[in-house]
Amino acid sequence: MAEQKWVYSFGDGKAEGAASMRNLLGGKGANLAEMSNLGLPVPPGFTITTEVCTAFYANDRQYPAELASQVEAALAAVGQSVGASFGDAQNPLLVSVRSGARASMPGMMDTVLNLGLNDTTVEGLALRSGDKRFAYDSYRRFIQMYSDVVLGVDHHNFEEILEYYKEEHEFNLDTELTAEDWLRVIALYKERIEEELGKPFPQDVNEQLWGAIGAVFGSWRNARAETYRRLHNIPEGWGTAVNVQAMVFGNMGETSATGVAFTRNPSTGEHAIYGEFLVNAQGEDVVAGIRTPQSLTKKARLEANDRKPSMEEAMPEVFVQLTDVFDRLEKHYRDMQDVEFTVQNGKLWMLQTRSGKRTARAALKIAIDMAREGLIDEKTAVTRVDPAALDQLLHPTLDPDAERDIIATGLPASPGAASGEVVFSSDEAASARAEGRRVILVRIETSPEDIHGMHSAVAILTTRGGMTSHAAVVARGMGRPCVSGVGSIRIDYKAEQFTVMGVTVKKGDIITVDGSTGHVIRGEVPMLQPELSGDFATLMGWADTYRRMKVRTNAETPVDAMTARKFGAEGIGLCRTEHMFFDEARIVAVRQMILADDEKGRRAPLQKILPMQRDDFRQLFVIMKGLPVTIRLLDPPLHEFLPKTPEEIAQVSETTGMPADKLARRVQELHEFNPMLGHRGCRLGITYPEIYEMQARAIFEAAIEAANETGEAVIPEVMIPLVAMKGEFDLLRERIVAVAGAVEKERGTSLEYQIGTMIELPRAALMAREIAKSAEFFSFGTNDLTQTTYGISRDDAASFMNDYMAKKLISQDPFVSLDPDGVGELVSIAAERGREARPGIKLGICGEHGGDPASIAFCEGVGLNYVSCSPYRVPIARLAAAQAALAVAANAGHD
Ligand code: PEP
Ligand code: MG
Repeated sequence: MAEQKWVYSFGDGKAEGAASMRNLLGGKGANLAEMSNLGLPVPPGFTITTEVCTAFYANDRQYPAELASQVEAALAAVGQSVGASFGDAQNPLLVSVRSGARASMPGMMDTVLNLGLNDTTVEGLALRSGDKRFAYDSYRRFIQMYSDVVLGVDHHNFEEILEYYKEEHEFNLDTELTAEDWLRVIALYKERIEEELGKPFPQDVNEQLWGAIGAVFGSWRNARAETYRRLHNIPEGWGTAVNVQAMVFGNMGETSATGVAFTRNPSTGEHAIYGEFLVNAQGEDVVAGIRTPQSLTKKARLEANDRKPSMEEAMPEVFVQLTDVFDRLEKHYRDMQDVEFTVQNGKLWMLQTRSGKRTARAALKIAIDMAREGLIDEKTAVTRVDPAALDQLLHPTLDPDAERDIIATGLPASPGAASGEVVFSSDEAASARAEGRRVILVRIETSPEDIHGMHSAVAILTTRGGMTSHAAVVARGMGRPCVSGVGSIRIDYKAEQFTVMGVTVKKGDIITVDGSTGHVIRGEVPMLQPELSGDFATLMGWADTYRRMKVRTNAETPVDAMTARKFGAEGIGLCRTEHMFFDEARIVAVRQMILADDEKGRRAPLQKILPMQRDDFRQLFVIMKGLPVTIRLLDPPLHEFLPKTPEEIAQVSETTGMPADKLARRVQELHEFNPMLGHRGCRLGITYPEIYEMQARAIFEAAIEAANETGEAVIPEVMIPLVAMKGEFDLLRERIVAVAGAVEKERGTSLEYQIGTMIELPRAALMAREIAKSAEFFSFGTNDLTQTTYGISRDDAASFMNDYMAKKLISQDPFVSLDPDGVGELVSIAAERGREARPGIKLGICGEHGGDPASIAFCEGVGLNYVSCSPYRVPIARLAAAQAALAVAANAGHD
């Protein structure tokens, strides 16, 4: 049997590996091989494969038998290539040893440089380089790094020795030390190592090499790496590779340098080299931050007002070579690259390349530019932008360079940032707004009564409630930044102040809320305004051509509906009518209706509400101009509309003329222990049919009026919430059809409409086959479906969800990203059973998950017709839906 290949060589314009062999060679090794194959200047070396790592652990930490001879042969070839020999006294080959997993993995042993130096070879290096100081400096760096990462002698030992030496000899900078000084420091280092370990620093270069290789493989299972793997779902079985590579020196004098660069600007996307370099330095000096690096380009230097020459000016020839390499790398990888390089005596060497991380703004620009440059096609461009990152572009954001005094952190419930005065009540927010002040509404939690306050505030902060609490959902719908569930804040409504970590913030004090990170900050922080640039629109247009699912919005106000249209919404997937009931002009009538003793008592106030509801719906139909609009009949428990405190009861008593004691009694009667599982949803329609009849009439009359106004046919979709049984649906459907018939007769016209239901209870999902016999569409209410499937209250989850995450019981808040296993299974079952009874039944989702990219991918898999989300998430959903469709198509192609 042929010997298994454990070692892959690269360098001199060729390689045994390639970029496609990432699993075997790790990211770094695969790209070093690829760059070699491209003929780029890569110092020769070899990669010990990830399979060695796996075999090492499977075999009681023993290496495969053939490894030693393969390493020896590869090392000899490297020596031949650079004209040196490992351990040779006159002309020693020095190498770097680096780890390289498939995915970059902090926590593992990273790098040892200058390996192969000992008391003898260092003299060879000094002789050949003609620079004793350089040779001894390299040796002491090696001793320090190797002892720290391989031998476990902490680097503070060496820092201490060096500091002491400098103090004693009155040196300020390392550069002041002569060759002789370094030689003495080396002796002190070696003494300390012997003290610490009871044996001397290894002089045998092979012992050094295998020590470093062993340290890399050993670090694959250290505690930090294991934690990182667990957090990022990286399987232990992947293993790491080890890269051994001939050293090149950036610290050989003024014609040597080392640097890092991006082929395009990772923050703006501009097609211009971005990066820095240091003359006469080794890799770790750039990151260590001891010396300030210089710009690569003259333009960047001028912009930074830096006097030190740029690389373009200081090393013009190497700079031209470098830009040429960048061009070739981009043409080859077809993506922006993040590279490391070294210049040794005027010669350029490439040490690493990988796809660079970037901001949302840069991602958009780079994707579009590359498509226009012909590097990628439009489809690929669409996959290059992270939909969730678009959030950064749709809301004002904190200036990243600004100082901030963070006093608390909660859930990032609705993105964007805002500064304003603290107020503790919605009425106060409204009156402050009327005076033109910017306020932040701070509440323990919010309820539908706070809608006007939330509208008036520039941001909302709550101390209770999760990502789908009332505050979070409404804030997202309105595009208001919101941080919810900030448990560390204690609100004292009476004293009109809150306290956190010993800080007291009073009404009127300025705070800043960042709904993208969950931060609560004292004082004002400068903001950057959102920019809907041309690139953004272009990419959205491309996404739309590959998208299968429609994207609708959850909206009930004309402002929200118009915002959503501007962002490309193709209809309304959920209009929550209860929010319309809180308008000041109608809440009195609503309360009268609820508090009435009988049907007759309810009908009169409903008559007052009817024209207002009709006008709400007419406006939405007009804005949506013939696009589908789903209107949900009243859903929340009635007590949400009722007065609570004695003061509120007195106020209502005055406006309605109802005696206060009777009012208090009625409020008491309506009290429920579990209102979310109580008298709400279609159960209201069953007990108070006249409410749904009024709403249905408002919908149908508005449809006729809007059609006349716009000339576009309106086909309203009437949606019944919280259905669990077909019987509930049938009973209500019959009444709605009767109302439609009556309206048709009165108006002398015919109506087209659909009546469907939400699927938001497990029973509804299971009974979907039955329900679909009557329901013309389903909309998955995954907020309630998640709540009822898990039995976790969506309003109280925040208090323990963080703990569940910390203990790794769940990796994602199921109210944010749809649980594909449990809740998702119910969605799949309902879709399948619904289609059995009614082939082609229209299926959508209107829970908060409709704006979450991972959940949208799930919806594509189930074949839903549309997703519906808050207006500000519409662009995210458009892009996520396109990517999901492309992924499904790509998978189908592979079968
Ligand atoms: C849902 O339950 O998912 C839903 C959309 O309805 P609401 O959030 O209004 O309960
Ligand atoms: Mg619901």
